[in-house]
Amino acid sequence: MQGLTMFHCLTHRADRVGLGWCLKIAVFLTFWQSVTCLFAQPSCATKEEYKDKIHLRTFVDNDSLVTIPIVIHVIFGDEDQNVDDERLLGQIRRLNEDFRRLNPDTALTPALFKDVAADTKVEFCLAEIDPWSESTKGITRTQTFVNEIGLTQRYWQSALGGQDAWDQNRYLNIWVCEIVEDGSIAGFAEAAKMEPAGAEGIVIDYRYFGILTSGMSSFGGGRTLTHETGHWLGLSHIWGVETGCAIDDGIEDTPLQLDRYRGCPTYPQQSCGSEDMFMNFMDLTDDACMNLFTEGQKERMRRVLFTFKPNLWIQDLCENPTTSSLSPDLQRMHLFPNPTRGHLRISLGNLTLNHRIQIRNLQGQMLSYRQLDEGISISDFPPGLYLLTLETGDQSKTFKIIKTD
Ligand SMILES: [Zn+2]
Repeated sequence: MQGLTMFHCLTHRADRVGLGWCLKIAVFLTFWQSVTCLFAQPSCATKEEYKDKIHLRTFVDNDSLVTIPIVIHVIFGDEDQNVDDERLLGQIRRLNEDFRRLNPDTALTPALFKDVAADTKVEFCLAEIDPWSESTKGITRTQTFVNEIGLTQRYWQSALGGQDAWDQNRYLNIWVCEIVEDGSIAGFAEAAKMEPAGAEGIVIDYRYFGILTSGMSSFGGGRTLTHETGHWLGLSHIWGVETGCAIDDGIEDTPLQLDRYRGCPTYPQQSCGSEDMFMNFMDLTDDACMNLFTEGQKERMRRVLFTFKPNLWIQDLCENPTTSSLSPDLQRMHLFPNPTRGHLRISLGNLTLNHRIQIRNLQGQMLSYRQLDEGISISDFPPGLYLLTLETGDQSKTFKIIKTD
């Protein structure tokens, strides 16, 4: 499979909107699908090399808070499509609430599923530093004369009327533009590929981005982005990649489900011998009627991040977002110098007994360091990349450290 163009299956929320026109480009065997096979379906034929890669490199820490920097590229024809900053910010807030299970409608999760409902400990922030090390709002705006640009390969190319992606190893790129004039496709995701390719990221039609009070209100709650971000991080739809009880989504704690749901079904609904979790973000129900990711989905998404995107979440390209539950002290804390030859100091200086430090290599092995009067020493470590987790109380923050010779 290596070398093939690896598209994510684009079933999206396209198929929940209007005409039912489903943009299925599933003919491209996706990288994520191969990942799905690895994680979930032992009978699925996959290449050993991927297994090795995952087993060797994946250390899935389910507890640390991970923050992903975002850049939003607004590509507009007329001013209607030029979504304003306020709506963009409202959308990122909703995304964070949903991923942290801080959404206001968690009470609507049925009792049966409350135990598996997850705070994914993944957050998103608008980038404050751009790829050229300049400060930024994390938003670009490009006027275009290309209609339905989201349907073309132009949206991710500045030379063709779109906007080039920022380095996908460092930023999640989200394009907001017109996908189809009639609004029948709400969004889609292109998952990370093994080789550099400009299209990786998420595309959302401007009519479905942000919290909207009028118009297409079934999808005006900002959850098209939540759903597509789930795809981008390796999640399938809740009913699996096809209709039927034999095909699962590969996640243990989501019940088998025959097919998609639309609209806002009354609870309970049953199929495949169990109650369906149609209120999962990865079904196609209305925004007002979906409210959870599960622990299993959390584990999958973090595994994808830790395995394939180590440089995406362990840099300081933006502050923790507004929904962050970290104490202000911990939010402000950073390490310096970094890269380091061995000695690290911690800003705000005073490490107290309340602070616990853990340092791991990328294989997840815990390493011992030396405590100094001011900071710590890792001068015995071989050069390379390490993860330092600083804990205080029940909160933690993880930093990437680069040790040089
Ligand atoms: Zn979808």
